[in-house]
Amino acid sequence: MRLKDKTALITGAGSGIGRETALLFAKEGARVVATDINDEGGKETVAMIREAGQEAAYFHADVSKAADCEAMVAFAERTYGKLDILFNNAGIMHNDDGDAVSTEEAIWDLTMNINVKGVFFGCKYGIPALRRAGGGSIINTASFVALLGAATPQIAYTASKGAVLSMTRELAIIHARENIRVNALCPGPLRTELLMKFLNTEEKKQRRLVHIPMGRFGEAREMAAAVLYLASDESSYVTGSEFMVDGGITAAYVTPE
Ligand code: NAD
Repeated sequence: MRLKDKTALITGAGSGIGRETALLFAKEGARVVATDINDEGGKETVAMIREAGQEAAYFHADVSKAADCEAMVAFAERTYGKLDILFNNAGIMHNDDGDAVSTEEAIWDLTMNINVKGVFFGCKYGIPALRRAGGGSIINTASFVALLGAATPQIAYTASKGAVLSMTRELAIIHARENIRVNALCPGPLRTELLMKFLNTEEKKQRRLVHIPMGRFGEAREMAAAVLYLASDESSYVTGSEFMVDGGITAAYVTPE
């Protein structure tokens, strides 16, 4: 078991990447604190883990609220005695997020508050807990869009993921000597609800697929496997990385026919 005796907190654990990671972490021996604003989804994740005879607890936390983030970390320490792994994964991609001209200020603010401030709050309250545990691993979910431009605009989302990536780099350096590693997961386009809602026509889907060398969308469980590596001690010399799990999209100039 790769996460035996570790406690992991996962934000946005009610669906997609967060849920798959919660299930995998628990299977690998971690005690999982699943947090979300979607209580139904979050509780369902926990029920799935418990049904498999593993350990998890749910806590309602909106990552854009400081008090919620402080409380979720306190809950993890209170429930399981310590915190070793923090997966800042919650994020949104709003349907009304478009180009600079069309995007409303409110959509920009909402996206930044969840995708960027949420990661900051996770770290603000999570890092003291990791210190108390003698160190740990933080994984922040960024995206391939932090590295590549797209003709399907989502200006706020793209900017938010760029911020996550640069924040991750600085966090990694600042905390390197405290035995705290900080890495960014950069998923490619995935077949999750979040992206499929955005690419809501076959034409939009095909427009994306043509750029992916593997010719398919990724799966949430493929992200979970990468997060497991970054969370576990197997990645003990990995920090500040942009961990690309993207079917080759960022390496491509021309893709196979
Ligand atoms: P998802 O929508 O399935 O899951 C996101 C979860 O975050 C949901 O359960 C949602 O309720 C929760 N959430 C939303 N706002 C929240 C808030 N304020 N506080 C707490 N929880 C909140 O999407 P997913 O694809 O699993 O996305 C997870 C992460 O991966 C996001 O950061 C997303 O930007 C990123 N990502 C996704 C893709 C993709 O193609 N799906 C690609 C690159 C990056």
